[in-house]
Amino acid sequence: MKKLVLASGNPGKLREFGQLLAPFDFEVLPQSAFNVPEAAEPHITFVENAIAKARHAARLTGLPALADDSGLCVTALGGAPGVFSARYGGEPKSDERNNAKLLADLNGISDRRAHYVAVLVLMRSASDPQPVIAEGEWHGEIVDTPRGAGGFGYDPYFLVPDTGMTVAELPHDEKNRRSHRGKALAQLIARLRSGA
Ligand code: IMP
Repeated sequence: MKKLVLASGNPGKLREFGQLLAPFDFEVLPQSAFNVPEAAEPHITFVENAIAKARHAARLTGLPALADDSGLCVTALGGAPGVFSARYGGEPKSDERNNAKLLADLNGISDRRAHYVAVLVLMRSASDPQPVIAEGEWHGEIVDTPRGAGGFGYDPYFLVPDTGMTVAELPHDEKNRRSHRGKALAQLIARLRSGA
């Protein structure tokens, strides 16, 4: 099997990517196994940050690397919090503060459209001129009253209109099937299947 470094320390992502990429002969290993420190994420777009993370892991390990970057984009806020989603409410990062700031920013605004975005980047080496890039979006609306106990982050406030439920109310496997990350991963797999 070919070794693939995941530019993340999240055990849930490691398990999920590991299972889905095994059929492509990739053994997914966390960057912590190679003592790779977290990369800086200085950019204002998801794709630039994902490329920076994948390149950093590939450069320090000499192996192919996979990175993801994701967040929430609110239409009436010009796409904010965007790449700043994890720390929107300030340091140290806190879902509660992020959600409080989101609701304060949307106070009095009737346009509640928002979408989650996930970008995945697979680089065969640090100098790969043509990384495999996949992107998924999940559209919904921000509500004022939280509902549900599942998911994380902005999920209790993110309503999925065709279900009438917030993401935090959706069963776990349904979230995975519908989510921005699920769609990006399906797209990455389709690209690998077609020989990318
Ligand atoms: P990361 O790409 O895993 O670092 O996620 C960035 C941030 O975007 C998270 O900390 C959350 O605030 C937000 N986010 C990304 N995906 C989701 C999701 O599926 N549900 C809720 N919040 C999310």
